[in-house]
This record gives sequence, C-alpha cells and structure tokens, in this order.
Amino acid sequence: PAVINITQLTKTYIMGQTEVRALRGIDLQIQTNEYVALMGPSGSGKSTLMNLLGCLDTPTSGSYLLDGRDVSRMEDAELANIRNEKIGFVFQTFNLLPRQTTLENVALPLVYAGLGKGERQARAAEVLASVGLGDRLDHRPNELSGGQRQRVAIARALVNNPAIILADEPTGNLDTKTSIEIMEIFEDIQSRGNTVILVTHEPDIAEHAHRIVRLRDGEVESDEANDHIIRAS
Ligand code: ADP
Ligand code: ADP
Repeated sequence: PAVINITQLTKTYIMGQTEVRALRGIDLQIQTNEYVALMGPSGSGKSTLMNLLGCLDTPTSGSYLLDGRDVSRMEDAELANIRNEKIGFVFQTFNLLPRQTTLENVALPLVYAGLGKGERQARAAEVLASVGLGDRLDHRPNELSGGQRQRVAIARALVNNPAIILADEPTGNLDTKTSIEIMEIFEDIQSRGNTVILVTHEPDIAEHAHRIVRLRDGEVESDEANDHIIRAS
C-alpha cells in the first residue's frame, strides 16, 4: 500500500506583493518500504516538499494522504499528533539535546507516546543497540563523534516505529567514510521494513537509494528506479 499518496500538491508563499510558487503540482506515490532520494538544485522545492511530507506545514492546494489519512487540511494540533505518531526526522545538524545522555535523547519521544520510564529506557536501549551504540548509552553528545551523534539522531527517529523516516541532508556534516556508514544504517533500516526518504545534493549518497526523484522549479523533473541497484540485484 502507498504510505504516501500526493496528488497535485502546490505550495505558494506570499511575500508582500509577490507570490513564490515553490511547488507547482506534485504527484507522488511512495510505497511502504521504499527508499527514495529527493534531489534537485537549490530553490527547486525540496525543503518545501519535505516540510509538507513531515506535516510541518500544509499545502496551498492538492491532497496528501499519509498512511491513508488526509493530512492536507488538518489543524496544527492534529498535525502535531500525526508527526509524533507517524514521522521520524533526521537533520543535517543532528539536533540532539546537549545536556541529555544518548539514552535520554532517544527515550524522549516516547514520553508523548505515554510509556512509563522503564519501558521508555528499555525501548531506547534496544533501538540504540540496533544502530551499534549499545555501549554509548550514558555519553553526552559532545562525547561522541559526528557519525555517532547522527546514529543517536537516527535511533531517536526510529524509536516510535514511525511510518516514514525523513532525512534532510543527513550526511551534510560528515566526512566521506562516516557518510557511508550512515548510509549503510539507512539501508539496514529500510531492509527491516521502514520507508526512508532523504534529501541530498550528493550523487554518491543518492546512489544508495532505490529510487531517485528530481525536482526542478517546483515540479517533478524525473522519477526513476536507481539503475545501479537494479543491475546489482
Ligand atoms: P538549500 O537548498 O541549500 O538547503 P534552503 O532550502 O535553505 O537552501 O534555501 C533555498 C532557497 O530558499 C534560498 O534561496 C533561500 O533564500 C530560500 N528560503 C529558504 N527559506 C526561506 C524563507 N523562510 N523565506 C524566504 N526564502 C527562503
Ligand atoms: P530547496 O530546498 O530545493 O532549496 P525550497 O523549498 O527551500 O527549495 O524553496 C523553493 C522556493 O520557495 C524558493 O524560491 C524559495 O525562495 C521559496 N521559499 C522557501 N521557503 C520560503 C518561505 N518560507 N517563504 C517564502 N519563500 C520561500
């Protein structure tokens, strides 16, 4: 089933007297367990689309069904609930709480899910072990490498079992070797049944995805399976 079903989605920003048509009619279906890279030049609408996919903003027109629910006309409070329930975010700058330990950072989203402390910690430890950080539970972010910090952020994104993981330039602050390690973690996450959508400028990073969607001037310029993967498998 399509976890994301977008039809003729538009987003127009009003800047004084000027209208900026950031998205001009996007059609996009993404199935559960797909691994999609979103590419395109600066200003092509990637961030705007990610904000809509992540229920951080609502479209000007068109529809967006997320896991079968129309989220395109929801009020902010309802969108916030959908975000907590359905979406895991990973950012370029990690966005961890500096005074909290690895375990605390990852357990935090479970507070909104209403779990007790013991359950939260057990679940967080389990997800941290799955990204190779089972021995770093009590470290604070400044005691971790960049790649380890991003793995904490990925564990935090996964802890609620979201329907989709959205990653915006997740390797933008990492060196090549560490970037590859992070991409391998996303591949592992996808192979365990999750849906992953990531924005990247880097062809070497997009090469890890199974499908590449390119935006240009607020439209889908191309949407294709990644040949490299298909030939290899
Ligand atoms: P990048 O694609 O390099 O990540 P951004 O998404 O931050 O860059 O910005 C892309 C373009 O959108 C830039 O031209 C930037 O000035 C513009 N932009 C981003 N956010 C805003 C905003 N809040 N208001 C006006 N323009 C914005
Ligand atoms: P990308 O992420 O691909 O760089 P964006 O989605 O940031 O593209 O931007 C698409 C277009 O929308 C650009 O022309 C940008 O200037 C404009 N834009 C983005 N965010 C805002 C905003 N908050 N207010 C006004 N214009 C914006």
